[in-house]
Amino acid sequence: RRRGYAVVRRCSAVEAGCGAAPPILKELRLQCATPLPLLRRVADAMAADMRAGLAADGAGELKMIPSYVYSLPTGNETGLFYALDLGGTNFRVLRVQLGGKDKRVVGTEFEQVSIPKEIMHGTTEELFDFIADRLSAFVAKEGGDFHLAEGRNREIGFTFSFPVKQTSIDSGILIKWTKGFAVSGTAGKDVVACLNAAMERQGLDMRVSALVNDTVGTLAGAHYWDDDVMVAVILGTGTNACYIERTEVIPKLQHLGLGAGNTIINTEWGAFSDNLPLTEFDRAMDIESINPGEQIFEKTISGMYLGEIVRRVLVKMAQVSDLFGHSFPNKLAEPFVLRTPHLCAMQQDNSEDLGQVKSIMHDIVDVNLSSLAARRVIIEVSDCIIKRGGRLAGAGIAGILQKMEDNTKGLIRRRKVVAMDGGLYENYPQYRVYMLEAMAELLGPRDSEDVVVEHTKDGSGIGAALLAAVNSKYAA
Ligand code: BGC
Ligand code: MG
Repeated sequence: RRRGYAVVRRCSAVEAGCGAAPPILKELRLQCATPLPLLRRVADAMAADMRAGLAADGAGELKMIPSYVYSLPTGNETGLFYALDLGGTNFRVLRVQLGGKDKRVVGTEFEQVSIPKEIMHGTTEELFDFIADRLSAFVAKEGGDFHLAEGRNREIGFTFSFPVKQTSIDSGILIKWTKGFAVSGTAGKDVVACLNAAMERQGLDMRVSALVNDTVGTLAGAHYWDDDVMVAVILGTGTNACYIERTEVIPKLQHLGLGAGNTIINTEWGAFSDNLPLTEFDRAMDIESINPGEQIFEKTISGMYLGEIVRRVLVKMAQVSDLFGHSFPNKLAEPFVLRTPHLCAMQQDNSEDLGQVKSIMHDIVDVNLSSLAARRVIIEVSDCIIKRGGRLAGAGIAGILQKMEDNTKGLIRRRKVVAMDGGLYENYPQYRVYMLEAMAELLGPRDSEDVVVEHTKDGSGIGAALLAAVNSKYAA
């Protein structure tokens, strides 16, 4: 009888709202709330941190890394250029044939492979040999519309989507890995030198003419078509933003005597952490991550982590309530089984019985969500984490725009385009809407009118190739 009572109580708990899941959900909602005043504090802190980082290295959480890009592609670039794109989940090689003023991009070809886990956790030589090997196979297939002009060599724009301290346009030192990469021996090394060494081992004669962050490549690629593009943001596996800054307001570059002009600053905003509304789930995930204490903004808003945060909330719910029935679903204990694309697929379920939620949860963690109320709880937890992420991303962008206003004191109004790329933004409609809503709330009607967010899919590869062209060692 005692058992019978317990079963009845457990089965109805979620539905009746008297189980432990709803209190956890309630608490989660409170902790993840992002009301306008909080977003304002985040945007202000972001802008303040940007100023600090421009003043001196290490003065704020944002590294504000100078890109050494002083001129953007104009459209006049001509010739064959290659790009390598090493980022979150995929590695891509690309070639583009540039035709100059009217023709612009005459042809592009690319190949993409996902990066094997062994490579992500291997040695520097293994990683760069893997890259050089793919590149070499790809170059071997060059033909058709693609041809190298006489007297030139094959040049590469290398998009390397990790925090790199640039030492020139074509060299830079890896500060640290992010996004689950744990390749040994690379931090502290010049990644172009690593690539050159691997190309030499392959007998491949090419040269890197531009080393760029993916945000910088995206900005250059988008700016090629629209010169109102002034900011680029990546919301994918990881996250980051860069923007066009005036050289004369960058105190830490004054010794270079650059005079008036523009350059691109890679903010590395993933490292930001001021004023973020964090929960016990975020803290536990951070502690167990391969980079504890680092990339807190990234861990709160980007694709690699959102599914994992939700999984951790569900684990707690499973432990203290009957959300998944009587026994703890073992598969749910595995870190990162629940991925952001799963959350996204579940949130697109508009059916009355949330059948998609049931079947995804069954496939992924082998649980049988027989009650509709339990399926709703999953959606609500996901929405809570997605909403917080999207709104905070919006606050970050508002913070950058706010910093840019410093230069004009808000007096000059002009159209500003934010070039956006990354799977999270592209594929997750709710996240996108939350982000845009937060931006609109923060910017207000007047400034919102001037700001356009434009999706530039895979712009970073072409952008890097264009920057290689701008900085060509051989150009006519
Ligand atoms: C890296 C950035 C990169 C971003 C988006 C972050 O983890 O630190 O350099 O731009 O991911 O790919
Ligand atoms: Mg990428």
